[in-house]
Amino acid sequence: MLPSPSSFVAPPATLLHDQHGRPLEYLRLAVTDRCNLRCFYCMPEEGITYLPRHELLSYEEMLRLTGLLATLGVRKVRLTGGEPFVRRDLLPFMERLAQLPGIVDLSLTTNGVLTAPHVPALARLGVRAVNLSLDTLDRARFAAITRRDELPRVLATLDALLEAGIQVKINAVVMDGQNIADLVPLAALARDLPVDVRFIEEMPFNGGSHAAGPAALPWNHVRIRRHLEEHFGALTPVPVPAGATAAEYAIAGHRGRVGIIAAYSRTFCGTCNRLRLTAEGGLKTCLYDQGVLDTRALLRGGAPDAEIVAALAAAFRYRAANGFEAERQRPLHQLSFESMATIGG
Ligand code: SAM
Repeated sequence: MLPSPSSFVAPPATLLHDQHGRPLEYLRLAVTDRCNLRCFYCMPEEGITYLPRHELLSYEEMLRLTGLLATLGVRKVRLTGGEPFVRRDLLPFMERLAQLPGIVDLSLTTNGVLTAPHVPALARLGVRAVNLSLDTLDRARFAAITRRDELPRVLATLDALLEAGIQVKINAVVMDGQNIADLVPLAALARDLPVDVRFIEEMPFNGGSHAAGPAALPWNHVRIRRHLEEHFGALTPVPVPAGATAAEYAIAGHRGRVGIIAAYSRTFCGTCNRLRLTAEGGLKTCLYDQGVLDTRALLRGGAPDAEIVAALAAAFRYRAANGFEAERQRPLHQLSFESMATIGG
C-alpha cells in the first residue's frame, strides 16, 4: 500500500532476481496504446493502428497481474502508455493500485496535455513524483515535433505539479536537427525551478522508419554532456539509486539535477530492475525484447494464480543480459517496427 508521503519507509528487499542476479522490482505498466500527441520520433503522422478496446488489458486484469507481480517482489509501478490520461477512469484505477499490498511507489509518465486538472487528485493518492515529457519550450517547435499545438497545457501541468509539491522530472528526447537549440533552455529549468531535467538518446522505436545502429546516433550521451558543459561548465556526476537509467549531474547554481539517459547506447543494463507490460499484456523483461510472455492469453484462458506466477518466474529466468542481446534475440530484428506508445516508454 502507498505510504502517506510523510511515512514513507524503504521497501523490503525484493524476493525475485533474474538469472543475472538483478532484482526485478519496478513495473512500467502501459495502460493504453492511444496518445493525444503524434511525436514524430514515436509514431507516424497518421498514428499507429490502435488496438481494439477488447484487446487492451482491462483494469481488472492489470490489477490482478500487478498484485501477482507484487507477491514476486515488484514494489514500484509507473503508469505509462500511450498517454495514461487518455484512458477513461484512470484515477479510480490508480486508487485501487495504490491499495495493493507490496506496492509502495506509484508514479506516472505523462505528456501533460490533459494532466493539470488531475494533479490535486494525484497528490491525494500519495503520488510523489511525475515524469513529464517535454522536448522544447518553443511553441512552434513543440507543434512541429508533436504535430499538436499543446505547449500551453503542458506548461500548465508543470505549474500545477510544482504547486502541489509533486516532484517533477522533465524528460526530453534529443533529436538531431530538431531540438538541439532547446537543450540549454531545458537544462536551465533545473536552475530556475526545483525540477530535474533528463535528456534521452533517441531510440528507433518510431513505428515506421529505418533504424540505424547506436554507433550512428548523432546525439549520444557523450555528445549531449559535452554540449551542456560547453554552456554550463562542469557537470559533476552525483550518485544515483541502484537500477537508475539516468546518469545524473549537478551543475553549479542549479536547484535540480540534470540527467542523461543513454537509452540507445544502453550503458545501464547491468543494473536494470524494470519489467514492462504492454497495453495488450505483453511482458517485456527488456525494452529491446519483442515480448517474452503473453499474459493476456493466460489471464483470459482461465489460468489460476499459481500458473501465472510460475510463467512470470520462468520468463525472468531467461532475461537477456542486456539490450543488445535482447535485440539479437528478436524473431524480427526490427526495432523501428514498434512504437514507444505500444511498448509503454
Ligand atoms: N504519453 C506519455 C509521455 O509522453 O510521457 C507516456 C508514454 S511516452 C511513449 C514515454 C516516453 O517515451 C516519453 O518521454 C517519450 O518522449 C519517450 N519516447 C517515445 N519515443 C521515443 C524514442 N523513439 N526514443 C526515445 N524516447 C522516446
